[in-house]
This record gives sequence, structure tokens and C-alpha cells, in this order.
Amino acid sequence: MNTASAARSRIETPRLATGQGEIDLHMHSSCSDGALAPAALVEAAAERGVRTLALTDHDTTAALDAARAACAKHEIALIAGVEISVTWQRRTLHIVGLAFDPLAPALAAGLAELQHRREQRAEAMAAKLEKLGEPDALARARAQAGPGQIGRVHFAQALVESDRCKNLQQAFKRFLKPGKPAHVATQWAGLDDAIGWIRSAGGIAVLAHPLGYGLSGAWRRRMVADFAAAGGEAIEVCTGTTNAQQVAVAAADAAQHGLLASAGSDFHSPAQFWLSLGRLRALPDTLTPVWRHPRFRPLTDTS
Ligand code: AMP
Ligand code: MN
Ligand code: MN
Ligand code: MN
Repeated sequence: MNTASAARSRIETPRLATGQGEIDLHMHSSCSDGALAPAALVEAAAERGVRTLALTDHDTTAALDAARAACAKHEIALIAGVEISVTWQRRTLHIVGLAFDPLAPALAAGLAELQHRREQRAEAMAAKLEKLGEPDALARARAQAGPGQIGRVHFAQALVESDRCKNLQQAFKRFLKPGKPAHVATQWAGLDDAIGWIRSAGGIAVLAHPLGYGLSGAWRRRMVADFAAAGGEAIEVCTGTTNAQQVAVAAADAAQHGLLASAGSDFHSPAQFWLSLGRLRALPDTLTPVWRHPRFRPLTDTS
């Protein structure tokens, strides 16, 4: 880095905000299954007072360039983010990567492979839905996804648009959840692979919404233990929907395995009126926040 660009990145890299309400490390744009384009998402976060954010689309970093420009405009510190789909014990888990180098080859190749599997899954889901009386399911889901990558939410939106279902939750419950007629089981990344890609890209692996998988206590503890053993370093303790009791459970898991604590709303859409960007419970002060990790730093215009 020459002197001029060093000075520029010093000026243009905003300070990390760590105060309550100023930080949100989990959200989705229209590059995956979020409703807002990256710049609009950043703008919405700025309006809510967020000063540090990670945009964590499912299995893609496609939003990062647009988010970087929007964050610079709003003086928000942008942390590189992604939410990787993982298959563990025949279940799907989500591993958030933070503060990695988006150009690191192993991570980029891993995400490209997952996107390929998403495309194959979409074709298989569409075939099932067509047999269930939904014509042109793939084209209609793609129309919902726009240029972004396709996922179950886009099929759910298509089912709502054709009045087959009254809302997204019902589409998942009737058609798209495991065990339902349009569900297609998919082999996502291995837990070790996903954590390895994040770490080899210089990032921090975070176990997303540990209470969001419908696991018993014994299975949840096994998941957290395997995650820590594989090199995971942090766990989401506060999401946009966690209650005080859930915070206590996740905090105990973090303490037991020496994991850092993360906080992110998992915002997808303004239609989710029950949560909003940056609106999170405070992390228990017995835990170390993930933003104290030495490798937690914003993307700069030179990285
Ligand atoms: P995918 O990664 O394509 O299998 O889709 C998973 C996404 O679907 C999650 O990240 C949520 O955004 C959404 N989702 C999962 N379950 C539900 C549900 N019951 N109701 C609404 N959205 C859901
Ligand atoms: Mn999602
Ligand atoms: Mn998730
Ligand atoms: Mn998410």
C-alpha cells in the first residue's frame, strides 16, 4: 500500500461501533433471499442507527461490492460476511463467516459449489411442485429471485403469489420443510469444510442462531461441541428474535466452549415487522463480543 492509499483507507474506514444498537452482524439482501437490494439494506440500517454491519447472504458474497459503496456513503463499517449452508448429522446448519478476505480461493470455490447445488435443488423442487399442480414453478421462483441466487423463499413467494398459500410460513409448512412434498434433501458443505474455508480466508466462523434448529438440549450441545472442535470461534447469542431465556442458554454454551459472542438480527425483509435492523438485546457482559477478536476488522477500499 502506498502512502496516499494508506492515508485514504485511514480516512475512509469508519470507526467500529460497538455500542448497543449500533452493530448488526447478520442480515440478508436480494442477492440471496432478502427483500432489499444491498444499497437499500445499508440505507435502512443507517436509518436505524447501525454503524457496523455484516451483510451475510446465504452462500454468496455477491452483495459486498454494492454494500461497500453504500457503507462508505453512510460512514458505516462493513464487515465481510456470508452465511454458509452446512449439512451436519443429516440436518442443515448455518455457519456465518465474518471478516474474511472475499477473494480467498478456497472460500470462493466452496461458495461456487454450493451455488451449483442450489441450482440443482431448484430444478428438483420445481419438478416436484409441477407434479403438485404448480406450472412453471422454476420460472416463477426465478422471477421472485431476480438476478439473485435462488432459494426456498423464492418458491414460497411464488406459492403465495398464485394464492396456493396465504403466507411464506404456510408455504414452508405445507410444501417446503423437510418431510413436506416439495422438499429436496441437499448435501451442503461439511462442517469442517465450511469452517476451514472461512479460517483459510482469514475470517471468523460463527455458529448462527443455535436455538433455531429445533434441536433437543443434548443435540444442541453436541452441535456446539463439534463446531468448537472444528475451529469455530463464536456463536450467535442475540438474534432479532431471541428472548432472555434463549440468551442465557446460548451464553452458557459460549462460556462452556470458550466461544466469543455474536449479535445479528437475521433481517430479511421489512415485512418481518417483529424484528428490525440493529434492534438486539445486549450481550451478557460475562461474554467477550466477537468484535473484540483481533481479526475482526472492516473491509477497506484497499483490501
Ligand atoms: P434455503 O437456504 O434456500 O433452504 O432457505 C432457507 C431460508 O428460508 C431461511 O434462511 C429463511 O430465510 C427461510 N425460512 C426457513 N424456514 C422458514 C419458515 N418456516 N417460514 C418462512 N421462511 C423460512
Ligand atoms: Mn434466509
Ligand atoms: Mn440462517
Ligand atoms: Mn440468515
